[in-house]
Formats: sequence, structure tokens, C-alpha cells
Amino acid sequence: MSALPPIRPDLRLSDGYHSPQVEAEVRLNTNESPFHPPDAWRRELLDALAEVSFHRYPDRPATELRAAIAALHGVTADEVFCANGSNEVLQCLLLAYGGPQRRAVVFEPTYALHSHISRVTGTDVVQGSRDDHFRIDPADAAALLAAEQPDVTFLCSPNNPTGQSEPRATVLVVLDAAPGLVVVDEAYGQFSSWSALELRGTAHPGLVVTRTFSKTWAMAGARLGYLVADPAVVQACEAVVLPYHLSAQTQLAGLLALRHTADMEARVALISEERGRVAAALGELSVESWPSDANFILFRPTSKNADEVWRSLLVHSVLIRNCAGWEGLPGCLRVTIGRPDENDRFLTALKESL
Ligand SMILES: *Cc1c(COP(=O)(O)O)cnc(C)c1O
Repeated sequence: MSALPPIRPDLRLSDGYHSPQVEAEVRLNTNESPFHPPDAWRRELLDALAEVSFHRYPDRPATELRAAIAALHGVTADEVFCANGSNEVLQCLLLAYGGPQRRAVVFEPTYALHSHISRVTGTDVVQGSRDDHFRIDPADAAALLAAEQPDVTFLCSPNNPTGQSEPRATVLVVLDAAPGLVVVDEAYGQFSSWSALELRGTAHPGLVVTRTFSKTWAMAGARLGYLVADPAVVQACEAVVLPYHLSAQTQLAGLLALRHTADMEARVALISEERGRVAAALGELSVESWPSDANFILFRPTSKNADEVWRSLLVHSVLIRNCAGWEGLPGCLRVTIGRPDENDRFLTALKESL
């Protein structure tokens, strides 16, 4: 008699990655854009979809999309690799450069998917730490990298969920000390005052910068992300990714979005302004909060239990992210910056919940 076989034993302890989706009128829990992409983009996409030969496979190397992304960053198309969200980009990097007997370094607390995808691909994970202000100490990082000799080192700038960009000096120290790839996840890069893309060049061939259309481009539903790196890294990703992984509609969505860069920048400016307003309002309440270079703010209620505050906000139909149970973030909550009216609802509900 046959029975369901067990899954890989090293996966059994993990319950995957998910953000609890609870019904709420104001959803400020997953760092998405609160705005739709431009109406013109939607019309152009619908028109373009009408012309797609859906009985044929899509353009496998996504030639036009890669050329357009390359032009955006002033690089060449062979330095760009696209996939279904930057998470698939990270998975390709780990399939190519991680795996059994290889290791990745992450600096906790940081984006949970870096260690999760590492483990799923059989890559050992070594956890570095941050100080009380969630900063990486460059000397500690250099010592850790020298001792562990990782194949892949992850940085996240601005760091999710703590909010701040890594200083250029820290990234430079890591680039000098890391023997393998250094992946700088810039999912929130457009909110930051600097990009690790500025450090690309022959001195740092192992530097990989990842970006996504899910946040600043307001296209989380389209599933598109990319990396900019040495052409050898792009070729390595192409060697492990499934054939025709990027659908015709995804390629078009990205290509057409790049015609609306000014709209994206206007959304980023508006959200940055709102972030300043929310941060100032938090400063008046009994919470500790951390500076943010992204579209979210991490804070910790000082007068009340975080779980209670989170539940009370939900009673007001405001959903934020409860990070209180995450390692290194005791009592912390993370709020995504929304539209001005949503931020008002959040602040009013928070005042009543504290
Ligand atoms: C949201 C986020 C992503 C986005 O992943 P996609 O697969 O592109 O949607 C990547 N990295 C970080 C740090 C994020 O917060």
C-alpha cells in the first residue's frame, strides 16, 4: 500500500512565509503602494495585451524589458536579469550560488525571505547581528565574513522591517570582506538617498543589487523584480531559472510601467512626505520609533503591550504588521505609510489604542 511520502526533513520545521491577511478597511501591513498605477499604464497594457500571440511562448530573454531597465540604470542589458518578483530573483541567485555545503550570511533582524529562501535551497544560514539601533557594526561584520567565508551575503537597504538604509561605508566594508556575492536588496531603493548601484564597477564584481516593481511602482500584483550585476551573474541565473518563466503579460506590464517613471517618482515623494508627518505624530505618542528611509515605520509602544495595541487597531479596522514575536524585535509593530486619509485613520486609532 502506498502512503504519502514525507517531505524533505530540513523543510519540516518551517511553516513557509506568509503575512496574515485579515479583513480590514485600512491595510497597512505589507508595504505595498496605497496608490494604483497610472490609468494611462492600465490602458496601454490592455491595448498591448490585445496584440499578444498567446499561443506562442513569450520572449525567453525578455529582451525589450531588460533593455528598458538597463537604460533606466545606465547599464547594459546583459547586466540585468528579470523574474517573477524579486523573491524569484533571490531564489535564482541561491540556486546558482547557494545550495548544499554552501552558506549565506544575513544580519538580523532583516527581511525574513533571505534566510527562508536560503534554507529552501539547502543553503546554510549564518546570522549576523545589529546593534540596539539596528545598525550593522562594520568591524563585527568584517570579522564574521572573514570567519564564515559565505558564498552569499545579504544586505537590505533600506532594511525591512527596521527602515534605515545601510550607510555606504558599511556596504563598502562588506564588499571588501565578503568572499562571495554581496546581494543588496533595494526593494525600497527609490525612497533612499543613495543606491548601492553607485558602487558597481570592476572593484566589486560580486555586487548584486535587486529591485522590485512591487512597492514604489505600485505593481505588487504583477510580480516583477530584477537584479543588476555582472553579466556572469545574469548568466548563472539564466542557467537555473525555468524556461519561459516570465510571461508575456508580465514583460509588457514592466515595459509599459517604465514609461511612467515620473508618476512613480511623484508617488514616492508623496509617501515620503506622509512618512514625515506620521513619524512626527508618533513622536507625540507613548511609543519609541525608529527613523525610516522607506515606506514604513517600525515602532514600539512603551506604555502598553504590542499584541494588545495590534488587536485594538484591528478593532478600529486598521491592519498593521505585528513584529512583536520576531527575533530581535520584541514589542515592535510596523506600519506601512498609506494615503493621507489612511494614515489619519491609523494615527487616530493608535491614539485610542495606547
Ligand atoms: C517587499 C520586499 C520584496 C519584494 O518582493 P517581490 O517578490 O518583488 O514582491 C523584496 N525584498 C524586500 C526587502 C521586501 O520588503
